[in-house]
Amino acid sequence: MVDTQKFVQTIDELARTLRELADSGVRGFDCAPEALDTLQSWGRHRPPRRPQPQPPESLEGIREDIGDCQRCKLCRSRTRIVFGAGSPQARLMFIGEGPGQDEDRAGEPFVGAAGQLLTRIIAAIKLRREEVYIANVVKCRPPENRLPEPDEIATCSPFLRRQIAAIRPALICLLGNCAAQSLLNTTESISRLRGRFFELQGIRVLPTYHPAYLLRNPEKKRAVWEDMQLLMKEYPYEG
Ligand code: URA
Repeated sequence: MVDTQKFVQTIDELARTLRELADSGVRGFDCAPEALDTLQSWGRHRPPRRPQPQPPESLEGIREDIGDCQRCKLCRSRTRIVFGAGSPQARLMFIGEGPGQDEDRAGEPFVGAAGQLLTRIIAAIKLRREEVYIANVVKCRPPENRLPEPDEIATCSPFLRRQIAAIRPALICLLGNCAAQSLLNTTESISRLRGRFFELQGIRVLPTYHPAYLLRNPEKKRAVWEDMQLLMKEYPYEG
């Protein structure tokens, strides 16, 4: 049923609006379909778009993005970029400081004396090197094996974070002061940080002593073994 009174009221309002528009100088309306569509869309309620979850990028894509990196001064002294090695599906990731001479030559992390000790540590927790992923805070060898400097860490660590996001391991083990302090954003020493879990990018991380430090201080092996037992309790072994 048409409500006559409401209909007359609407026509009156429309006539008043048209008269006001004419008085203010409007001489016609653009009734082209595009103009009408535009006007109609202004009145439509659009729910704000939710940010779409991005699929994780591949390690190959990150490596490609790094290219022949010249982003920091370490590029001048390196032989090769040491990107990282291991399984892209690793459930456990080890992160060290930066390549030494052997790694710089080989283009692979942890292949020197400290690397051989790391391989033995990995075997002690019943895993193989190929099953885990190994990377460093910086991907180029600092000259004379000095510590990576803050600007070098700041330039390189976004790539490491992307590698972590691409692999999404269940656990990360941070080897030594440089990895633990830079990734946990703290100045606490490794001796105070080791032996307990922290969180990084939603992943449980355990700092422990660096294998190179263990080579110089073998009495710390017991502490590392205790840390490895903590890791083993959390590692999703199959079967
Ligand atoms: N020490 C590190 O921190 N990383 C390596 O790759 C080798 C030695």
